Amino acid sequence: MKSAIVIGAGVGGLAASINMARAGVKVRLYERGETVGGKLREVDVGGHKVLAGPSVFTMRWVFDELFDGKLADYVTLAPVDPLCRHFFPDGSHLDLFTDEARSSQAIAAFSGQRDADGYRRYRKHAAKIFDVVRGPFMENAVPSIFDFMSPRALWQMTQIDGMRTLWRALEDFFVDPRLRQLFARYATYNGSSPYHAPATLAVIAHVENAYGIFAVEGGIVRLAEALRRRAEELGVVITCNADVEEIVVEPTGGPLATALRARGVRVNGAVDWADCVIANCDVADAFGRLLPAAPPAQKLLRKYEAEELSLSAYVLIAVAAPAPMALLHHNVFFSRDYRREFEELVVERRTPDDPTVYVCAESPEKYFILTNAPPLDAKGGAIDWSVESPRCRARIEEVLARHGWTLAPTATHEIAPPDVAARFPSSKGAIYGLASNSRMAAFKRPANTMPGIGALYFCGGSVHPGAGLPMVCLSARIATKMALQLEHGVG
Ligand SMILES: Cc1cc2nc3c(=O)[nH]c(=O)nc-3n(C[C@H](O)[C@H](O)[C@H](O)COP(=O)(O)OP(=O)(O)OC[C@H]3O[C@@H](n4cnc5c(N)ncnc54)[C@H](O)[C@@H]3O)c2cc1C
Repeated sequence: MKSAIVIGAGVGGLAASINMARAGVKVRLYERGETVGGKLREVDVGGHKVLAGPSVFTMRWVFDELFDGKLADYVTLAPVDPLCRHFFPDGSHLDLFTDEARSSQAIAAFSGQRDADGYRRYRKHAAKIFDVVRGPFMENAVPSIFDFMSPRALWQMTQIDGMRTLWRALEDFFVDPRLRQLFARYATYNGSSPYHAPATLAVIAHVENAYGIFAVEGGIVRLAEALRRRAEELGVVITCNADVEEIVVEPTGGPLATALRARGVRVNGAVDWADCVIANCDVADAFGRLLPAAPPAQKLLRKYEAEELSLSAYVLIAVAAPAPMALLHHNVFFSRDYRREFEELVVERRTPDDPTVYVCAESPEKYFILTNAPPLDAKGGAIDWSVESPRCRARIEEVLARHGWTLAPTATHEIAPPDVAARFPSSKGAIYGLASNSRMAAFKRPANTMPGIGALYFCGGSVHPGAGLPMVCLSARIATKMALQLEHGVG
């Protein structure tokens, strides 16, 4: 393997480029946007740079590895503790900490010893699930049906709490409905509903609670710049404003007459050849727009389109006077009826009347405010976002006003599902690929390779093992490991 082309400079594409370059492969990375980072980006609002994508940065060891342990030479990180302040409709609030004892104390004072004990049990439970899924699932290719045949795998399946929903599991650990709501919210970190997703998603709370959240000095977007610098130092050639139009495939000439192999990409009208192609764009775009004439891709596209998409978001970025209450970096203002909220989002596919509102206070005047929203799929019919966006904003203002905060911004910027859809082609605004709203969902996520097309690999939030900054790096690790095992999947 001498050369590789990476399509897309999201965090996964940058991580894949770094991994390949570290192995001595010459990498050319094409990005359709003006700069790198993909969803990890910031916008200019009233002269202030404010984050416009991810804000929670966990599992830092995954990034340390990309920088050979020298991440601190590229960005300055500081642990965020307390982790998050949770505001409830009854006026109460609760902070969680990385330190289990501090969180237990806070929970005991908030809702009694029984729930504090429940919290300790839940942490143990979630840690056990994480230990089971980390190696075989998060750090390796999608397990095949044969992988489930061994006694060890069957035992593992009994350990991951995959048969009941996250909400149902939380009922066994917490008496206070506010705590159930708090821990249920972690399902939304991959765009899913706690009333439908399996309790295995407890691992999301685990990584945040046990390993902490980190703040990046100067803003989380510095992380994308650090990845770019690292990639370029390793010799990766990054070209922005370069929209890849096609993945060029040719017959392998091997014994299987139908087998194809990726040979390069068509970009800006010319073909660039390489030994392998790694796609970091939304997988639906790779299957559809970039491989229109390849039967294996069309088959996978039909399968993908039959599955449920993850949630999108309505985001209001506001420059405003400081909030009247003390905020932390991460804050959540919960809705009155959580079940109803997800009924609206997932079943009725409409924006909730009373949303849960997440506020990242980057500074006392820069606010990234997010509510969940349905993606642009056919399930709920078309939403007229020119009407819906002002409604979403009004509902955010209502929720905050309930807590005595009249948001009077001097400058704003909105991101609605159609904006996400336009920026990430074929995503339909879904931020995290497919939803995890069923027991088998994790196994339905597209793999990092494609049967029938060799030398083509996938990384990013729409493929295995899933979305979120650390997960897309793990997906890049899996994809590049397969690519470096040479000729994987070529018939
Ligand atoms: C509002 C929001 C909040 C979020 N909050 C969090 C959070 O707090 N914590 C967390 O961990 N995660 C969060 N996420 C999710 C996280 O941002 C994503 O999972 C992750 O950044 C996706 O990375 P990726 O590798 O899939 O690439 P993406 O970010 O999807 O980037 C793909 C890149 O490919 C480029 N591209 C696409 N097609 C082509 C083409 N044909 N040619 C060239 N280039 C192409 C795109 O322009 C883009 O730059 C959030 C996401 C959003 C949108």
